[in-house]
Amino acid sequence: MVFPEQRTKRGSVGRRAAAAVAALGLLAVASDAAAFCRSTTCRTTKDKECPTDADGCSTDGAKLFWPTSCISYATNRLGTSDLDPADTRAIIRKTFQAWSDVDCADGTVAAMTFQEREPVSCKKSQYNKTGPNVNVVLFQDSNWKYRGIDGTLAKTSVTYNDETGEIYDADIEVNTANNEVTITDDPAKVQYDLQAILTHEVGHFIGVAHSPDPGAVMFASYSPGSMTQRELHPDDVAAVCGIYPENGGVACNTEPRNGFSAECDDPEPKGLCSVQPASSGVSYGALAIVLGSGLVAARARRRNNASMTSLTDGGRR
Ligand SMILES: [Zn+2]
Repeated sequence: MVFPEQRTKRGSVGRRAAAAVAALGLLAVASDAAAFCRSTTCRTTKDKECPTDADGCSTDGAKLFWPTSCISYATNRLGTSDLDPADTRAIIRKTFQAWSDVDCADGTVAAMTFQEREPVSCKKSQYNKTGPNVNVVLFQDSNWKYRGIDGTLAKTSVTYNDETGEIYDADIEVNTANNEVTITDDPAKVQYDLQAILTHEVGHFIGVAHSPDPGAVMFASYSPGSMTQRELHPDDVAAVCGIYPENGGVACNTEPRNGFSAECDDPEPKGLCSVQPASSGVSYGALAIVLGSGLVAARARRRNNASMTSLTDGGRR
């Protein structure tokens, strides 16, 4: 999805992009119901591509998973300046609910639910390897610091055990610095639908990668003005049911790793706030997939002998 002017927030470019998405959908062969992909510990870098199967799913590395059937999350208390905080939290709640207690095709119910905590002061995508944590959903109204992916609507960073794929922490950031997100149900007023965007990100939050199925929530592209990705598609249902089966024997534990904290103990140093202006004129070409064209390793950490890595939902060149 070439979407070089996506940062202009709206308008004809966005609509043209929507048409391009639709055309791609028509070209796609009818996809099977289980085309979904799992995120894995394999990280594509500029020097190395992760091998993939015919569906584009990574075939290398351990598959990511939460070792619990319920996960807690919290929204940053500042929300986003253009939207009512309570309304915003209600939308965020819906996006987690979309993936909760999902009815599977075989009559079972996926073993995954979420607990919403009170809003937190933490406004940073971060994992504290020696201290308490919070899985936070936050909005970057003025500082989208991820160079090269400022055409991206949102980014989910997942920290996991590099050997087992066990997820330790996940944080979602919404790029409201460069995009006008909306929460309206009025089709004439929808710009970048927050519910659709975050339903996709919650999929990454639980370890689902991009799906080749153009009807899936986890399809890598978002058509501006669309609300269809608010609801799970059979492919997304197959994903959560496959990763978190009812009979998986996993207990519920909403406590973040090392305990819960509403604060980030490593405040961002001042002076790092200058970002590329949105009008810098950089063309992202094929990167311009709105929800990110792939999974890009952001950083690696080590603790004891096991390394952990943050996985982001961003674009790649
Ligand atoms: Zn994505």
